[in-house]
Amino acid sequence: MSRMLMRASNVTAVYAADDGRDVPAVDDVTIEVPEGQIVGLAGESGCGKSTLGNAMAMIANPPLYVINGTLEIEGQSIDLRTLDPNANRRHRKYRGDVVSLLPQGAMNAISPTLKIRDLVVDVLRAHDRNYAKSDAIDLATDRLKMLDMPTRVLDSYAHQLSGGMKQRMVTVISTLLNPKLLIADEPTSALDVSSQKALIEMLLAMVEKKIMSGVIFITHDLPVLSMVTDRLAIMYAGKVIENGRTEDLVHNARHPYTAALLASVLDPTEDTRTKHVLGIPGSPPNLGNPPSGCRFHPRCRFAMDVCTTKEPATLAEGDHEFACWWAKEHPRQSVPMEVSHA
Ligand code: SF4
Repeated sequence: MSRMLMRASNVTAVYAADDGRDVPAVDDVTIEVPEGQIVGLAGESGCGKSTLGNAMAMIANPPLYVINGTLEIEGQSIDLRTLDPNANRRHRKYRGDVVSLLPQGAMNAISPTLKIRDLVVDVLRAHDRNYAKSDAIDLATDRLKMLDMPTRVLDSYAHQLSGGMKQRMVTVISTLLNPKLLIADEPTSALDVSSQKALIEMLLAMVEKKIMSGVIFITHDLPVLSMVTDRLAIMYAGKVIENGRTEDLVHNARHPYTAALLASVLDPTEDTRTKHVLGIPGSPPNLGNPPSGCRFHPRCRFAMDVCTTKEPATLAEGDHEFACWWAKEHPRQSVPMEVSHA
């Protein structure tokens, strides 16, 4: 078993609504990243995965508030709560070199008036305003060489780069300070398949070369996660409902939601012309008023009476964890996959 790089414990985050209510978006989530591994965070839109990423990266801004949670990383224990006025100053020293966030759509946020080299200098000076320009350029040049990327990119404007190259550049820039943990939010979503492959290969090389010690990869794209991750955590309605080694989850899902997500994806090795993609019936719940018991019960084809009243506890089989009454009654059995052919 690999050494644990990071553990985020009991993270709870809410959005303050206009009517004065707090709407929970992440509910008492605990997640770990072993040293040198890539952990995927998956689930439908609105399940809380980006909010959890922001909370762990310590960039939660109003109306998002982290009301509970601790991040343990490399012997440090960081209080993630954002409620006190000093939270931003407290968190600032950890951002960039302990935890770095590559937010959704980062490549589209590059100023069109800056060359990439100017962006490099701006980013490094945001962490240390005395960072010498020549040192910043040298660092970026060395990093690009290390990753077999062309250094001439530094003299380009964003509009002169392809989408794939822009995304790789923002990834390189967000990791120049060698963060222990990179949180990459939907880094491949806007890319074509060959650019996705190039980015994934670069991320794997970065972990291998110890530019960072671990990655949380957030996406709803399960085929991508199956390729790149060592472990998967599946979120539903603000909670992690299953997590374990990627191979275990893909071939031995213990939670009906994970099985339903997997059944929603076309497998190109099968006869895709005759296979219906199985969607998940219904929609994710309103987190302001979630269902009682198991939050997935209104959409679950295995739901029993107990599911509607009692929240399932988290169970473990080895390092595979899941929270489901059906799984409790069926030890070590995979959820039967629903198959539909025309
Ligand atoms: Fe389905 Fe019940 Fe398991 Fe929830 S606890 S996923 S409703 S079987």
